[in-house]
Amino acid sequence: MRSFSTGSDTHEQRDVLHDREGDPMGGDGIEGLLRDRLLIMVNDRSAIGLLPHIDGNAGGLLLTGVDAASRCRNIRNSYPDTVVAVDYGGHEHRVATVDRPFGYQAADGWHALDFSGLEEVLNGQLANKAAFAVTPTCFIPPDEDGDARVLRAVITQANRLERTDTVVLLPCSYRWLRDESLLHLVEAVRASRHPVALIMQHYKDPLERVGVAEGLRVLCRSCPRLLLWRTDLAAFDALAHGALGTAVGVTAMLRHGMDPRRKGRGWRPYPVVLVRELLKYHRVEVLQNWFTRVDPWTCGCAVCEGAELSRFSESNADVRESQWHNTCELYALHDELISADAGRDRLEWWRQILDDAVARHHLLTSDLGEEVAHPPVLHYWQRASPPAVPMP
Ligand SMILES: [Zn+2]
Repeated sequence: MRSFSTGSDTHEQRDVLHDREGDPMGGDGIEGLLRDRLLIMVNDRSAIGLLPHIDGNAGGLLLTGVDAASRCRNIRNSYPDTVVAVDYGGHEHRVATVDRPFGYQAADGWHALDFSGLEEVLNGQLANKAAFAVTPTCFIPPDEDGDARVLRAVITQANRLERTDTVVLLPCSYRWLRDESLLHLVEAVRASRHPVALIMQHYKDPLERVGVAEGLRVLCRSCPRLLLWRTDLAAFDALAHGALGTAVGVTAMLRHGMDPRRKGRGWRPYPVVLVRELLKYHRVEVLQNWFTRVDPWTCGCAVCEGAELSRFSESNADVRESQWHNTCELYALHDELISADAGRDRLEWWRQILDDAVARHHLLTSDLGEEVAHPPVLHYWQRASPPAVPMP
């Protein structure tokens, strides 16, 4: 597969990368590059249209899809300052084992990776000009035996990588955020010599499972080098609670992880609109229904320019435009978040945003004369934070 090529032009590319910038990560290394950064996770086919809406300073793209690597190279050739990395998505296809926790699916089938294969894939990502490399970790299922063997194997193998340009991906079942498993997860993230990107899997919304939102806060508070990827507005709760950085998915499918043993059904894109005041993604039909009874809400973002939020049809063009709107709104919120100092100021900012969103739901309920349910996680996020896990 061309994307993973580490042939001769690869070495040339690496040299160019290093010669131009010395330290490819800049002065603060990979942590400095990722700190407070909000990446947008998108299939490579939709990446180009999204580019004008990506925040140049604090944003970037995390590409998935079969052509993610070559798309990464194309984008970085044209926009060398835009942060772009790739997640090959092997975790959607295979479950990790102690012996073979890494691998990826290519046109010619599944590639399980030994240690040198892993190095080669990481080098291939950088050869394709990724701003940093991401381990192609397979799905980490619930820890039935209670010994966290598979999770430990991922961290142990990744710790053998003598490099400072890599993020270790942990695509985990949501069950890792609870009970004893959470303690194992904290231990594993702390033991990693690389920043760790968590993906939480559930076939719908992991944060609606009991204990997951709390477990995530504990993890963020306990592990300063944790990234939360393939998520939704939980990105903001994570950043407020000390996560290093985050990646929000552009489609519903890219806002949570998947269990490869549980194949999803075919799926047609439809417009889903982030309503910032409500901190919720809504389907257009819901908004259209409301706006027959209350004045339609408009949006002042660079994409909408004052147009109504319920205007998106199911055409491909409108689906894409709704994603651009969502991206603009995410960066508007993110801009406010990073303007507040990490710690108390940021927590207070987030608390205010949450209070406003809940109040807005109540107001809408009374305007419509019908209950507008808010996501249960909003109520959890309004609560005080649980303490971090003490260092051993
Ligand atoms: Zn908008």
